[in-house]
Amino acid sequence: MNIDRESVIRTQMELSNLMGCPGHEEEVTDYIMMRLEKLTVDKAWIDPLGNVLAIKEGTDPNGLRILLDGHVDEVGFMISHISDNGFITVTTLGGIDKRIILGTLVQFQSSNGERIIGVFGASPPHITKQDEREKVPDISDMFVDIGCDSYEEVIETGLDIGSVGTFYVESIQLNDKTILGKAFDDRTACNVILHVLEILSDQEIPNTILVNFAVQEEVGLRGATVGAFTLDPSIALAVENTMACDVPGVSPQKTITKLGGGPAVTAADRSLIVPKKILERIKEAAGKDEIKWQYKKPAYGGTDAGRISLTKSGVPSGVVSVPCRYIHSTAGILLVDDIINTIKLVSNFCKI
Ligand SMILES: [Zn+2]
Repeated sequence: MNIDRESVIRTQMELSNLMGCPGHEEEVTDYIMMRLEKLTVDKAWIDPLGNVLAIKEGTDPNGLRILLDGHVDEVGFMISHISDNGFITVTTLGGIDKRIILGTLVQFQSSNGERIIGVFGASPPHITKQDEREKVPDISDMFVDIGCDSYEEVIETGLDIGSVGTFYVESIQLNDKTILGKAFDDRTACNVILHVLEILSDQEIPNTILVNFAVQEEVGLRGATVGAFTLDPSIALAVENTMACDVPGVSPQKTITKLGGGPAVTAADRSLIVPKKILERIKEAAGKDEIKWQYKKPAYGGTDAGRISLTKSGVPSGVVSVPCRYIHSTAGILLVDDIINTIKLVSNFCKI
């Protein structure tokens, strides 16, 4: 299988740099629609919730209807208060560990399309009591400083209550094998699915491929719910980006996945027990090209597949994930080879 490594790296970095807070994913969905125009799909459209849905018809009218789902949103922040002297309080969109917040850079989307950069601050350690200094403040007790000194000045930048922001970091290729960036959960899946569609573009396969580039996963699997209803699949595969815990201080039984281990296959998580026939199909897809893969240790996390599996009369569903260190933080780290092996596995999964 011929996969353009440079295209995979470039797409990963471009997708990472886009902003896609839950409910505000247009930058990402516009990018995906632009990419889909160059691929052979029979239909692609944006549904009322904002999902990008696509269909590539198979040659066999009785073939499977296989749904590939990857979410376009990322964890982020929403402005909940602006003080008289221009400090911004935020609430989180999705799960973010407060230990990583203080001192990180954030970018907000203003109403005139600009990005407003700020930094997370809290009262300085020098003036706090010792016991307070040892505690991490709640995110609601921190503030974002965008360099304005009044409420009015903040409003003039085009920000207001309800404006959203993400971590601010430009994606970097650290070396031949490694990329650093934000929002790899789950832009990596967008990258994987775009490349799978590219591979399938010049092939006739019996199964019909349905795709949901789903919105609002991080706030409750919302886009997946309506997308699966519309597309009416017979089976489904969620493509995810999951925790690699191959770092100092983590015991083997808690090492959920490892970088370099290839696509991580879920047997069960908190939202789903993967049916045996789907697990076997995933293993068969990996076996076809002797693709390196690993299990994701049960039973951490939940994914769109959990919700998809409960659509209509039920949809047998599985999950494959690209391992990534430090997900839901300022910057994750992952390996190009793990992305490429996932593209290969998902392509084979569609063709069986
Ligand atoms: Zn995710």
